[in-house]
Amino acid sequence: MAKYKILHYKKECISCGACAAICPDFWTMDDDGAATLKESVLVDDHYERDINSEDEKARNQEAADACPVQIIKVVANEKKK
Ligand code: SF4
Repeated sequence: MAKYKILHYKKECISCGACAAICPDFWTMDDDGAATLKESVLVDDHYERDINSEDEKARNQEAADACPVQIIKVVANEKKK
């Protein structure tokens, strides 16, 4: 099981481009202007994808910290019962 996951509340994206500039191997800007988390899946009200390495975590945390509307979250993957 992956150690962490990235969550993206895409509907609230204001299209500033910071995440894609900081971490382009995970983030890209859509034609409609909103950011997209590459290889993510839609879960309820957000997109998410698993990550494993501390390096990936650090780079995505940097993107999360730069997001002016704080809609990127890097969280520990909780064990499912
Ligand atoms: S940093 Fe946040 S607001 Fe800016 S494009 Fe990325 S997700 Fe959207």
